[in-house]
Amino acid sequence: MAAPSDMKHPPSALEYPASWYAASANAAPARPALSTDVSCDVCVVGAGFTGLSSALHLAEKGLKVIVLEAARVGYGASGRNGGQIVNSYSRDMDVIEDKYGVETARALGDMAFEGNRVIRERIATYGIQCDLRNGNLFAACNAKQLEALRHHQALWQRYGNDQLELLEGDAYQREVGSDRYTGVLIDHSGGHLHPLNLALGQAAALESLGGVIYEQSPVLSLEHGAPVTLKTAGGTLRADRVVMAGNAYMSGVMPELERKSMPCGTQIITTEPLGEDLARSLLPNDMAVEDCNYLLDYYRLTRDNRLLYGGGVNYGSEGSADIEGVIRPKMLKTFPQLKDIKVDYAWSGNFLMTLNRLPQFGVINDNVYYAQGYSGHGVTCTHLAGRLISEVMTGRDERFDAFAGLPHQPFPGGRMLRVPLSALGAWYYETRDRLGI
Ligand SMILES: Cc1cc2nc3c(=O)[nH]c(=O)nc-3n(C[C@H](O)[C@H](O)[C@H](O)COP(=O)(O)OP(=O)(O)OC[C@H]3O[C@@H](n4cnc5c(N)ncnc54)[C@H](O)[C@@H]3O)c2cc1C
Repeated sequence: MAAPSDMKHPPSALEYPASWYAASANAAPARPALSTDVSCDVCVVGAGFTGLSSALHLAEKGLKVIVLEAARVGYGASGRNGGQIVNSYSRDMDVIEDKYGVETARALGDMAFEGNRVIRERIATYGIQCDLRNGNLFAACNAKQLEALRHHQALWQRYGNDQLELLEGDAYQREVGSDRYTGVLIDHSGGHLHPLNLALGQAAALESLGGVIYEQSPVLSLEHGAPVTLKTAGGTLRADRVVMAGNAYMSGVMPELERKSMPCGTQIITTEPLGEDLARSLLPNDMAVEDCNYLLDYYRLTRDNRLLYGGGVNYGSEGSADIEGVIRPKMLKTFPQLKDIKVDYAWSGNFLMTLNRLPQFGVINDNVYYAQGYSGHGVTCTHLAGRLISEVMTGRDERFDAFAGLPHQPFPGGRMLRVPLSALGAWYYETRDRLGI
């Protein structure tokens, strides 16, 4: 989906990576870059799910919102991810209970399934065409992981999710045509979708409410004050309040947001269309799957019956130049029957990891808000984040504050050593997964 040639974009314009999502995106306009001085109630920096969800909630409440996006709507992780609607957070509720206390766990637990509901409301309210399918599952690769899934089921039920189904032994082959697993936990309330089309649909919804989006407009500097002043190459924007939503793609504008997080890459391949019969033999009920390994594999079918398969983590960067060389062997380990199938697309993207794997929400100088660091599971939590940011900006703060109060530490080793130390830690956990201990 290239920008029309009559758009006046700078020569360094950033376009979508050559993903299956970009190739199958719904028609959308290329928006102009900011080229003048403007002002608004709220400026949102970044048009991924965090930024778009915040902007749309705020516009629904009648605020004048302008979004500044460095590249295109959904250019970052939101337009490239596995599309899996996974409930809750990257740390489970029992860890939150142990580390931060029962009260914090209850506050976060009450919101653990809300991001999912926000997405479904958006799709229904604005008629967004994004291939929504119901159901995702977690696949255990050994007995220890299956035991962890039993625990996970009991835990989530305690926090109100009654849509879970555990399949032990061979029963899981009802859902996945692979002999790699020892069982699966299905979350019938989860699902999957075309994430770039969800982003484009929310962008159009925002514009229908009077919101404005400038693409190809990276924010180069932010000057605190009332109003806050943001500068791009082409113009200046003054806003009473700001939402920083650049996540792993933000660099240099607010170093304080980068200190306690680390960008990580992960990679996806998409096969040629498999045809209905082969596709259904892999995933008979069209579930999205992620396994329970520390460095997990995740996959699902697309609407045109391709297998979209992702995996791996590259600490500090987007990763290998030979994506197919890295991900195809993972796919064949799960589905050896695909050995003669061609890969049509391969791409990578960055997500933002925090040390405790919980998202970072906060406010700087009373009027610059941020939400970031979903640590690999962000499709649902970004949508919750947008709702909470709109709440805190319009007078309801206790739900935003439940996240903002979580303590966050820098990664051990600082900027120089955090990458090799994290890789070493991952190697340790990966080895345990391989040995099933
Ligand atoms: C390959 C991959 C697979 C994933 N799979 C899943 C999955 O299946 N399920 C799941 O729950 N999560 C998944 N995730 C994580 C999830 O995609 C992210 O957590 C989520 O999309 C983050 O959204 P965001 O809006 O915060 O950030 P992003 O979507 O990265 O958006 C940030 C935006 O800010 C813009 N920006 C940055 N700096 C500036 C600036 N200075 N000025 C203006 N704009 C700026 C960027 O261009 C970008 O568009 C995956 C991530 C990746 C990379």
